[in-house]
Amino acid sequence: MEPPQRQQLALLRDGLKRMLASGVWADRLSMDHLADIRDLSDLAALPFTVKTDLSPALSRVIVPRRAIVRVHASSGTTHQPTVVAYTAGDLDLWARLVARGLAAVGVGSDSVVHSALGYGLFTGGLGFHAAAESLGATVVPASTGRSSRHLRLIEALSADVLFATPSYALHLAESVSAPPQIRLGVFGAEPWSEAMRTRLEAAWGMTAVDTYGLSEMIGPGVAWECLAKDGMHLNEDAFLPEVVDPVTGAVLEDGRIGELVLSSMAREAMPLLRYRTGDLTALERGECRCGETLVRMRRVVGRVDGMVVVRGVNIYPGQLEAAVLSVSEARGDWQAVVERPENLDVLTVTVEGAAEIQPAVEAALHDVLGLRVTVVVVPPGRVGHGGGKRLGIQDRR
Ligand SMILES: [Zn+2]
Repeated sequence: MEPPQRQQLALLRDGLKRMLASGVWADRLSMDHLADIRDLSDLAALPFTVKTDLSPALSRVIVPRRAIVRVHASSGTTHQPTVVAYTAGDLDLWARLVARGLAAVGVGSDSVVHSALGYGLFTGGLGFHAAAESLGATVVPASTGRSSRHLRLIEALSADVLFATPSYALHLAESVSAPPQIRLGVFGAEPWSEAMRTRLEAAWGMTAVDTYGLSEMIGPGVAWECLAKDGMHLNEDAFLPEVVDPVTGAVLEDGRIGELVLSSMAREAMPLLRYRTGDLTALERGECRCGETLVRMRRVVGRVDGMVVVRGVNIYPGQLEAAVLSVSEARGDWQAVVERPENLDVLTVTVEGAAEIQPAVEAALHDVLGLRVTVVVVPPGRVGHGGGKRLGIQDRR
């Protein structure tokens, strides 16, 4: 294989050339940008792309409309849905990138995969489905819906692999006293914690692995965890990753937590340059125990817009969740609120459980955050709908 740096530089230059030739990015990019790229580090001097650059729908498609064979769209809570377009080549690339991760954790022609991901505009269902099929697996496109139907199907078809969001998988497992055994769970589409992994693995008797993707890039298939469970391998032959300071935009060194920025230069229909994902993570280089040398991204610890600064400490929802769930009796939902009475920030975390867990949760939060947190324990069902669901941090200052 070519040295990754040279391969990535060629990918960047080729993608930029295609974007410039289309005229679609004339408002943002010029030939000068292309001329400036001599080295991969020159990527840092190019402009960012943000979600609002992608509307109106299909305005950033750089191929003729007849080359588009599919569109997907992200749900988008605060913005209009973001529409992404695929050529036939993009769909092939997508399946190949997702399949690389699935093959690494043992999905193959003997696998029976139960997919409880949503099918439709959401990229998760069809993205994982095509990849598993390409590996020869038997795929059950159960999609989302009634829990009892999922459990009956898993049992009846002896599924050994589950695709789902982690919160839904936990909800499924905890809706019955003894869920059917599943060998492997491949999760994605929402951030989750190491503590949640422990609970999922215990509940299903499974090995649980993480994946990462977003529709603006391609869908799932950006990064995948191997069985070493030590960070997700990022498909650098298709996506160029950077981590930047969310406030200044400066590129951070490996190992530092910041906002993940991705360039999807291998895409035919809609390559994006330096797209700000809004996801907070860190990159790590060096060979993994599995032998893979692709750069690894750490578990996503939260969203840039979900981050709050309390008494000078950056706090991410993922950190809070990990701390709360590390207390094994804290089984339910949790919610955090930051207030500022008398000019002093106060962080209050409400968790569900028995009253006696209060000191343990308080100690776990103090350990992780390095600051004192007020913990209020309420009976199960009083915060949310169960399943250790992240309800985020409310800022009331
Ligand atoms: Zn690995």
